[in-house]
Amino acid sequence: MSSMTGLVANPPNVYYSSTKFVLEALTEALAKELAPFGIEVTAIEITELEHPPLHLLLGNDVLTAFREKLAGLSASIDEWEATTKDVGFSDDKPRPQGGQRARIPGRIHVSLVETPRPRGTKEMAEQSTKPRPAVDFLKIPESGDPYLEGHKCKACSAMYLGERTSCSKCGARGQIEATKLANKGKLYVYSIVFRSFPGIETPYVSAIVDLDGGGTVKGNLIGVEPDPAKISFGMPVEVVYKDALGRKDREGNSYLSYFFQPAS
Ligand SMILES: [Zn+2]
Repeated sequence: MSSMTGLVANPPNVYYSSTKFVLEALTEALAKELAPFGIEVTAIEITELEHPPLHLLLGNDVLTAFREKLAGLSASIDEWEATTKDVGFSDDKPRPQGGQRARIPGRIHVSLVETPRPRGTKEMAEQSTKPRPAVDFLKIPESGDPYLEGHKCKACSAMYLGERTSCSKCGARGQIEATKLANKGKLYVYSIVFRSFPGIETPYVSAIVDLDGGGTVKGNLIGVEPDPAKISFGMPVEVVYKDALGRKDREGNSYLSYFFQPAS
């Protein structure tokens, strides 16, 4: 049971409207998800109610508010159209050079910054053959094997993924240094995932692994059946580097990702 305030929020119904907006989103997403099974999900937005003591948004008030909201959304979408087409992965148009700032008035401000890449025939040739890392803590050296990079506090040995300037464990500043993480570790916890985004094959095993020597990393566990009987907490695993399930960016570059598998 939703409400017109799930479509148009008004003071002082802050919390009431918020919960109705959630209900709208839940209904909309669930309806799309269950449609292939022939199940319909419906939210009812009440507009007429015999309820004399309450002031409800009824009649022309709510109609006008709703039409204004639709007109506002439509105008925002028109303004946003060029930007989103410009950066969409499925669009063949070349991406603009450097950074671009998209502004959608009164709604959301999005900054899209692309790191400029060197332009040259050598780099261009390399781009088509060398995969890109799927995450920024996966490093692909010019020569040698790919590896995961951690950032370690020299003061307390705490290990982090991703760069930082100070240690959130001991508070030390300027003591963080990049370090190569081990390719072996132990499975800390896992979850078997049965529902995911369209195009993602399920079930798969999402895992958190404590790497030997420090570093806790989340990733997919492969090479084992997604069956609790076949997986145990603390089992030794190793990091392997493979193509990121065939995904490519708009320029055709492939991505290299990391996975865990039971240690051989
Ligand atoms: Zn520290």
